[in-house]
Amino acid sequence: MSKTFDIRREMNDITEAPGKTWFFELAAGVIDAGRCIQCGTCVAACPSDSIGIGTRGLPALVKMCTGCSLCWDFCPRGGLRYETTWPEDAMVDAGPGPVITGDGARVHLGQELATYTARVSEPIPGAQDGGFVSALLISLMRQGHINGAILARPSPTETWKGEAFLARDPHDIETAAGSFYNQTMALAHLDCKGLGLEPRIAVVGTPCEIQGLRALQARDWYWGKSHPEAVVVTIALLCTKSFDYTGLMLTELRDNRGIDLDDVARVDILHGKLMVDAHDGTRLVDEPIRDFHGASLKGCDECADFLGHAADISVGSVGSADGYSSVIIRTEAGQKAFDAVKHRLELRELDRPEALQKLENMDKKTAFASLPRPFDPDGPMFIDYAEHVSLYAGTDREPAWISSSNG
Ligand SMILES: Cc1cc2nc3c(=O)[nH]c(=O)nc-3n(C[C@H](O)[C@H](O)[C@H](O)COP(=O)(O)OP(=O)(O)OC[C@H]3O[C@@H](n4cnc5c(N)ncnc54)[C@H](O)[C@@H]3O)c2cc1C
Ligand code: SF4
Ligand code: SF4
Repeated sequence: MSKTFDIRREMNDITEAPGKTWFFELAAGVIDAGRCIQCGTCVAACPSDSIGIGTRGLPALVKMCTGCSLCWDFCPRGGLRYETTWPEDAMVDAGPGPVITGDGARVHLGQELATYTARVSEPIPGAQDGGFVSALLISLMRQGHINGAILARPSPTETWKGEAFLARDPHDIETAAGSFYNQTMALAHLDCKGLGLEPRIAVVGTPCEIQGLRALQARDWYWGKSHPEAVVVTIALLCTKSFDYTGLMLTELRDNRGIDLDDVARVDILHGKLMVDAHDGTRLVDEPIRDFHGASLKGCDECADFLGHAADISVGSVGSADGYSSVIIRTEAGQKAFDAVKHRLELRELDRPEALQKLENMDKKTAFASLPRPFDPDGPMFIDYAEHVSLYAGTDREPAWISSSNG
């Protein structure tokens, strides 16, 4: 008999309301199945604050689960049909589109009001590309549009690991410039602690984190200590995959390549390669990113959202010259935020929009090949657990209780 039914039998014959989904089912279908992308949406969605961050940086139950189903419903690898968080015109084919490249080819980057190649005029130390994200947040905070921002900063105990935190002043933002190629459970930090009665925050995250946030914002429910309604602007970092910290930094770089992580000044994924530079400028690693595929998160394969369609602004390096940020302004909120920082930027037309389109197409191809369910932006927002089980059974990502009962 499966673990699920064992647990249910042990519930002393209590009759369960129909349609309940419990945390242990989220664990079986996503976390223990190796599909968690560490976005933190389940932590934010739990109205009884029963989910915390466990020792491996994964969601863990910290008190009683009531079976309210919300952690399952809102998980981008569980019940959330993530593509339903995208605006309607995200999926228009690259036929007639708003961006026309120099050679006349049309490119469609989803909903967009404007696109730019951008760089902050006075460089921000440690910024990954053009420093657009840090400059934007600093301007928004100085001008009083936000009083906090969920970002990633260096872990004090694990070298080159990013951890989520709530920045409360421009200095916090400056010290968090740059990219960490691990997930941080960003949405587990939506409690807005210390921001008083009127928190107004920005969230910077990978596209899956923005999807989870958008879904929470679309439902006016009680979210325990989390405040998705306090988020006034979202910034997605373009992303084809993220990595497991231990797999990438410790196993691949430290153990397999003998790199002392204290020597590392910069880690970058650019032009399909992973590049690692030392403090003295020496290039320590310059290898195709495919060599590190084993350290990437398995759940990323199912993600078709390289361009961060659900965000107010999407930012990356692809599509612009080195040292510049590619910026896609998607919404009115994004445009308003952009206007706050414009005066600090060197701006020009986006260098190579077709490079973004190419990577988006490749990302979608991988996702469509990996997703056992239909990809359907017009479908219902939520997928039942029972439906998930039947779709994933027999795949290499089936719920962990099926795998264990199979032997
Ligand atoms: C996992 C990952 C994969 C990426 N893959 C691509 C890619 O394939 N192609 C591409 O063009 N760009 C990719 N990027 C984005 C790129 O690395 C830069 O973050 C982006 O160009 C912004 O640069 P900037 O100089 O404008 O930002 P900066 O001024 O350097 O600010 C970056 C901001 O992002 C925050 N941040 C850093 N790491 C994380 C994280 N893991 N989670 C949440 N917030 C974080 C920082 O705290 C900082 O506020 C990826 C980023 C990440 C985190
Ligand atoms: S993918 Fe996100 S929502 Fe789903 S279990 Fe992992 S952290 Fe929670
Ligand atoms: S590839 Fe997709 S699922 Fe993976 S971290 Fe990036 S946005 Fe999230």
